[in-house]
Amino acid sequence: MGDAAQRLGEIRVRIADAAKGRGRDPSSVTLIAVSKTFEADAIRPVIAAGQRHFGENRVQEAKAKWPPLRLAAGPVELHLIGPLQSNKAADAVALFDAIHTLDRPKLAAALAAEIGKLRRAPALFVQVNTGHEAQKSGVAPEQTGRFIAQCRNDYGLSISGLMCIPPIDEDPVPHFRALAGLARDNGLSGLSMGMSGDFEAAIALGATHVRVGSAIFGHRPPIKA
Ligand SMILES: *Cc1c(COP(=O)(O)O)cnc(C)c1O
Repeated sequence: MGDAAQRLGEIRVRIADAAKGRGRDPSSVTLIAVSKTFEADAIRPVIAAGQRHFGENRVQEAKAKWPPLRLAAGPVELHLIGPLQSNKAADAVALFDAIHTLDRPKLAAALAAEIGKLRRAPALFVQVNTGHEAQKSGVAPEQTGRFIAQCRNDYGLSISGLMCIPPIDEDPVPHFRALAGLARDNGLSGLSMGMSGDFEAAIALGATHVRVGSAIFGHRPPIKA
């Protein structure tokens, strides 16, 4: 098993192998260590091991946890990978370097307003609901082109890429392939896809950002309601 820093090293090797296997430069894949639910004490050794990108899924949790960690650790980049309410857009723009869950016009408008106000522009990824799941956030695949155009033209947002979370009980490969196709169609280079169980498959299909949590930090305790 080993500790988190050791598991991080192993994940880095697997990412590099998956990239090289496709003739890709390993540095073209950004590893986002998903630290949601873990306390600062669990995160510090991973920062000390050189990890610079971290993912959180809740604004409130990240806002409490990261400012002191950042002060101590130096430059880290924070990625919001969970759903964002429009009324938390200001906090999200102030705290995060990338937001992976842009999925509706109201949120695009709120982010554009805060980016203008705070003069700070996180990288934005549009979340696509590739599995058409009712309970999942994200734009429908067939609406994605229209939504991206709306973000660009109506709200003046610069879009970095697309993000998806494939259905838990399905082969992720067709979902990764669909997301890569949508990115290509819309002239986007960023692809946020792949988690602990499937990041190598995602890299094979062009992932530029993989979001790996439990394979680094270990099992997450179930979230209490
Ligand atoms: C929790 C989470 C991850 C990490 O999942 P693991 O299976 O622990 O690697 C990745 N992406 C999103 C959107 C998440 O919420």
